[in-house]
Amino acid sequence: MSPPRAPELLRVLARVPHQLADVVLPPTCSACRAAVADKNALCSRCWSEIRFIEPPLCPVYGTPFAYDLGEGILSAEALADPPPFRRARAAAIYGDVARRLVHQLKYHDRPDLAGVMATAMSRAGRTLLADCSLIVPVPLYRWRLWQRRFNQAAALGASLSRLSGVPHDPLALQRLRSTRRQVGLSALQREENVRGAFRVPDEKRARISGQTVLLVDDVYTSGATAKAATRALLRAGAAAVDVLTFARVSA
Ligand SMILES: [Zn+2]
Repeated sequence: MSPPRAPELLRVLARVPHQLADVVLPPTCSACRAAVADKNALCSRCWSEIRFIEPPLCPVYGTPFAYDLGEGILSAEALADPPPFRRARAAAIYGDVARRLVHQLKYHDRPDLAGVMATAMSRAGRTLLADCSLIVPVPLYRWRLWQRRFNQAAALGASLSRLSGVPHDPLALQRLRSTRRQVGLSALQREENVRGAFRVPDEKRARISGQTVLLVDDVYTSGATAKAATRALLRAGAAAVDVLTFARVSA
């Protein structure tokens, strides 16, 4: 039997499951596709370009401060607009590399990437994870889920659950309707857009009642989604809600 020609070989490889393909194909950076030493990793250039969020930061919104103002000092945003959640934290600023990782996770069938991103989140949210009793991802509307087959927030929630041992319930919250894309909307429009969009189904109320919930999503943008989802969890009797995302848009 003669060896398969290149196009045939590619066709064969395309049908090989990811894990097996990794044995054959050299591993590439999850953000820029440069060759890397281990599977799932980012290349050193992409790692160095990610702006991980470090203290000092606002104890409520988790936004980084340029200077250490001392313990307990809140950001202007936290004073002017206290959120329904207790604390929000994110691993990185939503810059180029973070955006590419989120995009890969969302649209390119890269559920393996969730582990890498969740590891960074578990560092940024160490205290939140230690304090919570249940991890709940921000849900997609059913139609979106069907289109994509994959909820990136639930993939991050499952990985965080594996890393921390905290239980994860991806069905504890429902998105009742499709919401317009938040891009290009003002803060007020974003709030209108997601108001009443989430609820805890009746059969899950007992699961949520009295729990300290860690709400998980890929990106924190205006906070409108996190706030609407938090309100639904509090209405169902959650004792408190913290929010952990991979990235946040810089304030
Ligand atoms: Zn790279």
